[in-house]
Amino acid sequence: MGWIVSEPYSYKWWGGLDSADKIAISAFLVQLTKWETVKKVIDDLSNRNLDKIDNIANISIEELDNIIKPVNFHKTKAIRLKKFANKAIEMGGLSNLLRIENRELLISLDGIGDETADSLLLFAGNNAVLPSTEYLKRVLERIYGKKFTKKGAKEFAEKLIEKDLYKYKLFHAGIVSVGKAYCRLTKPKCEECIFKGVCKYI
Ligand code: SF4
Repeated sequence: MGWIVSEPYSYKWWGGLDSADKIAISAFLVQLTKWETVKKVIDDLSNRNLDKIDNIANISIEELDNIIKPVNFHKTKAIRLKKFANKAIEMGGLSNLLRIENRELLISLDGIGDETADSLLLFAGNNAVLPSTEYLKRVLERIYGKKFTKKGAKEFAEKLIEKDLYKYKLFHAGIVSVGKAYCRLTKPKCEECIFKGVCKYI
């Protein structure tokens, strides 16, 4: 389905990127932008040695904006990414910022909501955190035939799966893949879905 099952600490779970820095950068760039465009911009940043959060902190917003122009809302994203990079520097580096105890701090930064914070903590910080997503809510609601809030779906799932980095990454990637490929908002493709034998929706 387009994602890679790999060893737990690999960064490649996130669209095949190979560093925590690139994952963090892409998390800002991808909002309302196609992944293919984001990957091209990341490659361009890499060619300029700007695919590191530390190096982004050292350039101006204008320079950053100019490079990330192919993504939608590039000006806003340049400002947000610079602020994020500055915060990472202030905390002593990206790996220090992406610790579970900094979840609320992450959410307080512009451009980072619950889902992005948890996804960064899981895939860039390698913390066992399960992101609460619309996909998780929808798939669980349909399979179990009950209503969940996003937070409630996450808590329900946390009781189902052992708290383990690999299992959380695999579960999250699996739910997102099922949500994208089959469990669509309208006209879900239940006949092709791996859950069709157990799902209460059909
Ligand atoms: S069987 Fe249909 S409703 Fe159930 S999880 Fe799969 S796609 Fe969604």
